[in-house]
Amino acid sequence: MNQEDKFKNVISHAKEYGFVFPSSEIYDGLSAVYDYGQLGAELKNNIKQYWWKSMVQMHENIVGIDSAIFMHPTTWKASGHVDAFNDPLIDNKDSKKRYRADVLVEDHIAKIEGKINKEVEKAAKRFGNSFDAEMFKQTNPRVAGYVAKIDAIEQRMKKCLDDGNLEDFKQLIIDEEIVDPISGSRNWTDVRQFNLMFSTEMGSTAEGANTIYLRPETAQGIFVNFLNVQKTGRMKIPFGIAQIGKAFRNEIVARQFIFRMREFEQMEMQFFVKPGTEMKWYEYWKAERMKWHLSLGIKESEYRFHDHIKMAHYANAAADIEFNFPFGFKELEGIHSRTDFDLKQHEMHSGKKLQYFDPEENKNYVPYVVETSIGLDRMFLAILSTAYEEETLEDGSTRTVLRLPAKMAPYKVAVLPLLKKDGLPEKAREVIDGLKGDFMCQYDEKDAIGRRYRRQDAIGTPFAITVDHQTLEDNTVTIRHRDSMKQERVAIEDVEAIVRKGVRG
Ligand code: ATP
Repeated sequence: MNQEDKFKNVISHAKEYGFVFPSSEIYDGLSAVYDYGQLGAELKNNIKQYWWKSMVQMHENIVGIDSAIFMHPTTWKASGHVDAFNDPLIDNKDSKKRYRADVLVEDHIAKIEGKINKEVEKAAKRFGNSFDAEMFKQTNPRVAGYVAKIDAIEQRMKKCLDDGNLEDFKQLIIDEEIVDPISGSRNWTDVRQFNLMFSTEMGSTAEGANTIYLRPETAQGIFVNFLNVQKTGRMKIPFGIAQIGKAFRNEIVARQFIFRMREFEQMEMQFFVKPGTEMKWYEYWKAERMKWHLSLGIKESEYRFHDHIKMAHYANAAADIEFNFPFGFKELEGIHSRTDFDLKQHEMHSGKKLQYFDPEENKNYVPYVVETSIGLDRMFLAILSTAYEEETLEDGSTRTVLRLPAKMAPYKVAVLPLLKKDGLPEKAREVIDGLKGDFMCQYDEKDAIGRRYRRQDAIGTPFAITVDHQTLEDNTVTIRHRDSMKQERVAIEDVEAIVRKGVRG
């Protein structure tokens, strides 16, 4: 199955089993807005908990807050979002489709990268075992030409964006002969800037109402509370403030399911450090966040770092953790060294000091900040799409299985009476009652046992416990493992420990 088909199947699977629904579907949905269903909400909560635990519970010097979505409008003036939170957009006059100009250029670069990879593959076949790919890339004239071309395009795009030179941005697209992927035409409009913030009005009447914004990131809620938390929590630098919450962006092009949404959720942590130490902490958090991802047991080759060429207005170093989504490597998380930009801006606009008194240095300063920012919905998609598998079994039959990390699975245990009679349902209820205080459990007595196992495979339940006649005699059950489909007979009193061990991983 190719990746495109797999992605389609993941999307329909997510809907069929109650993970993700299009928002207000009975009215034909709302573009790039989604609802999480009964299983999606569980998976999402599990991701949040795992993140919160590893960031807040496991770090003595990190605390969590929950700030409001609405903030004083000056917040967004100070943060630079009113003036600079723009994407360059361009329309194709023939297809009438709208694109992000920078994404068109990035896709073009990806095509050139594809050509490099083809050359490398060809050469690898020609030279066999002695082939050194890195050496080849550096010395082969054709490949070197491609690399130089990519470099030149990236530099030119960066300059256009830095200088706000939108005419040259359009010229770059024309010079590179970039065509509309739908119509194949080069009939482009000019490039324009488009602000991504949603605005609304606060106050009951139109007169005197204030334009306020739906926050486009959760970070600013942390910055404006920096002193509140530092003072009340008696926090000593270095320390962090974490937050999980909704963010809103009027994305120009919103495709790819829950990858790019107009309403989404972020898990962010701002780490306040002594000026001059930020690069050390930037490297620390890059490594630490990658460790977090790998701790879920997803293959290392699915992740990579990507250093930014175009830095946001506030950053002096920035990298993405990219994930190999079904549509290729894309940003999953950002790690940014934000300097003292935000706190200084808020000092300037509010007229209030946002400084820390360092008892060791015996002086006040505005701390520097290293941020880790991950999209919850993107993490959800990463986990779901990696877990999804259509497996052919030894007997030639197939099953759809979600190989979710057990700690992420919506249900940890399914309890299944073999038959709907002979006291087996009652016994199964007894088993579930002993487990449901600790784990999400599902009871299912409908259909043949094989079909019930398949249903649990499809929603990623790691353990299925079957109660049969022998259970009534000796208090043992069979426990079936989702991934291996192996079954073992165990005492009911041992089930809890087995599940606990599996979930802890
Ligand atoms: P992109 O380049 O993909 O638009 P970004 O660089 O603007 O993303 P950040 O501002 O760094 O993203 O936001 C931090 C994280 O929030 C991202 O790594 C991503 O996981 C998530 N995120 C950003 N925009 C969206 C969106 N529209 N839908 C879902 N998640 C998003």
